[in-house]
Amino acid sequence: TPTTEFFDSPDRTATAQALAEAFRAAYGTDPEGVWSAPGRVNLIGEHVDYTGGLCLPLALPHRTFVALRPRTDGVVRVRSVQEPDEVAVPLDEVGEGSPEGWAAYVAGVPWALLRKGFEGLALTGGFDALVDGHVPYGSGLSSSAALECAVAVALGELVEAPLDDTGRAGLAGACQLAENVVAGANTGGMDQAASLRCHEGGAILLDTDDDSVAQVPLDLAGAGLALLVVDTRAEHSHAGGEYGARRADVEHAADVLGVPNLRAVPFADLDAALDRLDGDVLRRRVKHAVTEIERVRRTAELLRAGRPAEIGDLLNASHDSLRDDYEVSCRELDLTVDVARAHGALGARMTGGGFGGSAIALVRSQDVAAVADAVAAAFAEQGLTAPRFLSALPSAGADRDL
Ligand code: ADP
Ligand code: MG
Repeated sequence: TPTTEFFDSPDRTATAQALAEAFRAAYGTDPEGVWSAPGRVNLIGEHVDYTGGLCLPLALPHRTFVALRPRTDGVVRVRSVQEPDEVAVPLDEVGEGSPEGWAAYVAGVPWALLRKGFEGLALTGGFDALVDGHVPYGSGLSSSAALECAVAVALGELVEAPLDDTGRAGLAGACQLAENVVAGANTGGMDQAASLRCHEGGAILLDTDDDSVAQVPLDLAGAGLALLVVDTRAEHSHAGGEYGARRADVEHAADVLGVPNLRAVPFADLDAALDRLDGDVLRRRVKHAVTEIERVRRTAELLRAGRPAEIGDLLNASHDSLRDDYEVSCRELDLTVDVARAHGALGARMTGGGFGGSAIALVRSQDVAAVADAVAAAFAEQGLTAPRFLSALPSAGADRDL
């Protein structure tokens, strides 16, 4: 039988303390502080954050930590427990596509904060930083946003930016800019909003049309439920191109329909809108976006009514739409979803951009191990790389630890 590997999140305070100690060993001084930001998983509302849609992400207990100390010479020096190389980047060399590699997610943040109108010595003077990430990389759980947001909340505090929700929305916008321009990843704003604006015990209903956020309660444990995240370990090389192609499809459809984005197409008007589009493919893309936004609304309503066990059908319908109409799933995601459903999951779907990455399954607490074992067994039987599992409890957004 295959082994079922669970990705635990280490104790926050102990990890922060150990990182402060490691910072002293690396740089010979104390850090100014230690900050951390979570990865995220999106409950529902997929591939709609670039067309003004709604999504419902929650912060994972898995966080990325950064110990940081300001400098005054305009240089960012950064190390990561997960990467072998120390990188030193003069801030005046940060810009589009520069620096390359993982340091973009760090050095891009002060650059983007300045571009967004934040001010302060901590944004121009540079800093020394040591990173320790506990969000698995490249699994669709947004280790990139966790890293950016940990740096952003640190620098935000150092320049005395307000850290209320409005202030956090501003930091999130800067982190997205860093990811889009400096790291060169053309993504929407969901990941950074989730990492900065989530609270423990709930998801956020994020309206990507006006950037507003509403807290939505999600007491999984209280309802006897768990959200099992399955990192399929699959990563398909065409994912980036397909992502761009889907964005182009929905932008084209919005142009044809004469609306700013597909959020502007009411669910009740879907059939009329589809009649105005040429071609089965474009119609299916639009159908996904408009129905997915409606599914997010219904999911949020059920959660607000304290009925999380009833969202399973909406999760299932979301996956089927992403698989059949939006065509962003893949064999490993479909297998995970099928096996989870067959072993008692109340609902299951791919989450994140697709073509690999992770799937989620809403399961009764007592069924977590059985569902995970069944998925692991199915992967082994089909000769696929062993998936990894984690349990998502809605956790706190980015903040200071020490
Ligand atoms: P995802 O955000 O889904 O995990 P991405 O490809 O967007 O995947 O981001 C992963 C990249 O973010 C890594 O390849 C690395 O460059 C950077 N990164 C994330 N966490 C860390 C870390 N702890 N240390 C250094 N780089 C990191
Ligand atoms: Mg990412």
